[in-house]
Parts: sequence; structure tokens; C-alpha cells
Amino acid sequence: MKLVFATNNLNKIKEVQELIPKDIKLLSLEDIGCFEDIPETGNTIEGNAIQKANYIKEKYGFDCFADDTGLEVDTLNGEPGVFSARYAGDQRNSNDNMNKLLNALKNSINRTAQFKTVIALNSNNKLHTFMGICKGEIIISKRGENGFGYDPIFQPKGYNETFAEMDISIKNSISHRGKAVQLLIAYLNS
Ligand code: IMP
Repeated sequence: MKLVFATNNLNKIKEVQELIPKDIKLLSLEDIGCFEDIPETGNTIEGNAIQKANYIKEKYGFDCFADDTGLEVDTLNGEPGVFSARYAGDQRNSNDNMNKLLNALKNSINRTAQFKTVIALNSNNKLHTFMGICKGEIIISKRGENGFGYDPIFQPKGYNETFAEMDISIKNSISHRGKAVQLLIAYLNS
């Protein structure tokens, strides 16, 4: 069976391919000739993941799963949430996004936040979603060089390091995305 992972990140594909049954062959967007921007116009993280998986199924005919992630800050009522990538503007710049968030929280004592990933799977004409959450807090100023996005200002609960100070394998074992992927893999193996 062929299954599209709606990404062009070959590392992500390889990682998941190694953990699922051998008879499922994962394909990237490039593999199926999808080079356009997939619409992401939903109001929620879950809505965007579903929109992407359904788009591939409807336009290209392949069963597919897609992920979407956002950072939800409690004192900002869940913002930036679905707008995490373009919080500070359409240039989608991580430094600008972090600076905007640090500024929004400059007078906040409560700095708790969570990353949320939703994976939507459109397979055998059924839709399934898998959610992974990682709770933590937004620290006062950036620390660490690893990772991407908001990693330098997010410190997961129970750790003294930010995601950007952690080894990637440790981040993957506790992260929102790692947890959602584990649920997807458990489902595909069941
Ligand atoms: P996407 O849905 O995976 O593209 O994630 C949307 C945005 O959330 C990204 O552009 C990043 O700014 C942020 N983001 C997603 N995952 C992470 C992460 O693991 N660490 C830090 N930021 C992330």
C-alpha cells in the first residue's frame, strides 16, 4: 500500500518509514508530483491538518497523512496557535516571531504554553486524527542553537534546557510531534 506523507522533508519520511509495517510505502509530495502550496486556511491546527490530507486525497487520489503544529500560550488565550509560522508577518521569520512573543509577554508572570501537533490521516476513505502535546513555558530570553522555530524560548516542563539546548533525539522523545507520530505509528501497526 502507498501512503503519502504531505511533506518534502526526507528525514521525517525516513524516520516514520522505519517504524511502520514494510508493506506500507511512504511517498513524499515530490514523489507524487505535488509542487504547489497546499492550502492551509483553517482556523485551527486540526482543521489545517485535515485540509492538507484531504487535498492530497482529492487531487492526487492517494491515501495521505499531514501534520500541523502550533504554539499555544495560555495568557494570550492560545495565541499564536494556528498562526505560529506567520505570527510576526508573512515573511515567516523565526526570530521576528520569537521577538514578538517575548514582547507580548514582557509583563506576564504566567508564561505557561504548549506545543500542539495534529496529524490527520485520510486512509481507506476514513479520517483519523492523532494529537501530541508538549507542555512547558516561554522563558525570558533566547537560549540554545539547535532546532528551529520557537525552540530557543520554549522550555519543556520538567527540564532546565530549552528545546534549542537539547539533543535532537531527546527533543523527539518528548515533543508534541514525536508523540503524535507515535500514535500514528501505533495505529498503522494495529
Ligand atoms: P508546522 O505546522 O510544522 O509548519 O509548524 C508551524 C510553525 O510552528 C513553524 O513555522 C514553527 O514556527 C512552529 N513550530 C512547529 N514545530 C516546532 C518545534 O518543534 N519547535 C519550535 N517551533 C515549532
